[in-house]
Order: sequence, then structure tokens, then C-alpha cells
Amino acid sequence: MQKLSIRDLDLSSKRVFIRVDFNVPIKDGKVADDTRIRAALPTINYAAEQGARVILASHLGRPKGQRVDKYSLRPVAEHLSNLLGKPVAFADDCVGEDVQRMTELLEDGEVLLLENLRFHPEEEKNVDAFAQQLASLCDGLYVNDAFGAAHRAHASTAGITKFVKQAAAGLLMEKELEYLGRVITHPEHPFAAILGGAKVSDKIPVINALIDRKVDKLLIGGAMAYTFLKAEGFTVGKSLVENEMLDTARQVQARCKEAGVELLLPTDHQVVDSYEPIKGDKVMAKTIPVEFTNAGHAGMDIGAETVSHFANALSDAKTIIWNGPMGVFEEPPFNEGTIGIARAVADAADRGATVIVGGGDSVAAVTEAGVADRITHISTGGGATLEFLAGDELPGVATLTEK
Ligand code: AMP
Repeated sequence: MQKLSIRDLDLSSKRVFIRVDFNVPIKDGKVADDTRIRAALPTINYAAEQGARVILASHLGRPKGQRVDKYSLRPVAEHLSNLLGKPVAFADDCVGEDVQRMTELLEDGEVLLLENLRFHPEEEKNVDAFAQQLASLCDGLYVNDAFGAAHRAHASTAGITKFVKQAAAGLLMEKELEYLGRVITHPEHPFAAILGGAKVSDKIPVINALIDRKVDKLLIGGAMAYTFLKAEGFTVGKSLVENEMLDTARQVQARCKEAGVELLLPTDHQVVDSYEPIKGDKVMAKTIPVEFTNAGHAGMDIGAETVSHFANALSDAKTIIWNGPMGVFEEPPFNEGTIGIARAVADAADRGATVIVGGGDSVAAVTEAGVADRITHISTGGGATLEFLAGDELPGVATLTEK
């Protein structure tokens, strides 16, 4: 890697500004899932052990440039303190004189968490004056460990680098770039990609990049699959379709054929007779072959036959990447397809395949299926993972100091 690493910095007795991704779900004032906090622990511990005075900053949710209590990072400070086994100071804001004073009072190895960066509109607008204020909190040392936010050019992920002496990648950032980088430059074949979720339009750049990178198999589930099925002439009823993407779907199908990429779509699915019932407590779902779909059906999840076709297709894969749920994962029983795929990729990993899972729902599925520890690499990025795999330069990485 050509960028500076936190390991290249002289941190002793220095205030270091570490951008982390603590964008975690908060329920009743408590952290509901601390995966992202745990993922940042190696970097925080490393910095503290080196004698740094650690300043942590993150965004949480979408407060739209205003102070919104439910998006306060205060519960995260408490949770982090438990994980680290030592106090974590919390600053009520992320800039200003009081915050400045708190950073000056830090001793070697102590940790301070700043309030949500997005309480200030200047964060997302990447305003220089704000980035400079953030930078003034540290002694010229910046570390970006927020891979999940690296595809955004915000004040704390990009702008700030102009106002510090050294900008380095944190340990989590390095690990993400190493795994994902290896997959896009030297994937072991057969190489399979599983894509799901709602929108084809979001995933077209990554699909095209994967075809260029000689992916061998492309498995498509979730609502995305209906745009492809409709493009092939299937009736999809009331399933979620992007009609304006039908031509694009046909182009992808043609590109796959030309490049010898095996494109797998669902052969059966779970349907309901209308969209409405899923919000109620009684769901009248049934599994039918895709060719039996009628005008009233809405497809909610891939069926058991599709899960086993997909699992078969993955059985000889040496590299697998997965992003996006196979159905309306939030509403059981429509999580079954996604859980089935989680088990299939874990089995592939047990057989020696490199398996990378990214995106909130797919990561939640591997956790729910109890297979998370069998996955080679669980990426903390959703959008960032897709943009990286599509070959885009991430602003949060591009702006780091060259080695
Ligand atoms: P994305 O943000 O594109 O990864 O999409 C994730 C969303 O896709 C989740 O909220 C799922 O509920 C939704 N989704 C997946 N499959 C379907 C489907 N068959 N019908 C409607 N929504 C779906």
C-alpha cells in the first residue's frame, strides 16, 4: 500500500485525530449492535499503547446538520469505555473552545470521543473552515479508520487532510483495502459474486467492473432480480422493478454472454398477493416457480430451490463476494433466502474459498445465521465496498499522505 499507515506515525504524547465509523444503531439510549465499534478497537488500542492522546470522531445517522438528541454519540462513549476497560471522555460538540480545552487536558493514552460530526452542516458540505477547526484539535496527525465513510468527501474524511502534517490509514482501513484490493486485482478462480438488494441502478457500475475483472459467476437475487427477469420476458406481477433499467439489464445479460460469465437468476420465489399484508402480522406467502407468477403476485424472497441452485454454483468457487439481501430480509419469513445464502457462503469458506461479505443486510444475515466467524472478511462498508469494487477512487483513501 502506498499510503501512510498509523504504524508509520510517531504518536507518543501527540494528540491524534482518528476518524472512526461509529454509525451504530441506538435503541433506548443504548448501543444495539457494536460490530463497528469493535472493528475500530485495534486502531484505538494501538494508538493508546503508543502513548497517543486519542481524539475520536464519527457521524451517526442523518441529523441533517442539526443537533438531534437521538443521534448523539454519548451512548457510544459509555459503550466504548466498557469495551476498552477504561474511561472515555465525551465532548458535547466536535469543534469549539470547550472541545479544544478538553483535547489539551488529555494525557498520554487517554481517549476522548467527540459529538456527532453531522450536527454541523459543514461536515457533509466539506467546508474548509470547519475541516481546519477539526484539524486544530490535534497535533498535525490524522488517521482515517472509517472505511464505511471513505466513499464520501466530507470535512472529516477528506477536507481535514489539507490541514494536518500526516494523514494515515488506520488498521481497519488497511485491512479492508488489503482484502478488497486482493479480490479485485488477483481473485482466485472460479470467482463468484452474489448481488441483491433493491436497486439495479446502484449496482450497475459494480456489475460492469466485475465482468471486466473476469468474474465467472454472477448470482442475482433480491428485488434486483425482477428487473432482470422482466427483461427476459417473465411476468413479475407487482414485484419491485426498475422499468427504466430494463435495457440496461439486457445489456448486462449480453455482456455476460459475450464474456462467458454465468448469470444466475432465481428459479423460484416467495410471493404474496399484494404488498400490503407484509406490514400486518399475518403473511400469506407461498413459494412458486418464477414462471408461475401472475399479475397480482409480489415477489418477496428467493425460494428454497434457488437457494440450493445458488449454493451449488458456489460449491467450486475459490473467491466469493456478497453484497445485498436476497429478499425483504427485515420481514420474516422473507429472510429465509438471505439466511440460506449466508450458510452457503460460510460452507464455501470452510472449503477454503475467500469469502467477503459487505453491506448492512448481508452482514446482519451472517450474524443472524450464526456463521459470521466462518467468513474470511466481513467488510464494514456498504456503499464504500461497492464503489471500491467498481474501481472508483475513494476520497477518504485518495487524500491520505503518500508513503
Ligand atoms: P439495497 O439498499 O439496495 O442493498 O437494498 C436493501 C433493501 O432491499 C432491503 O431493505 C430489502 O427489504 C429490499 N429488498 C430485497 N428484496 C426485495 C424484494 N423482493 N422486494 C422488495 N424489496 C426488497
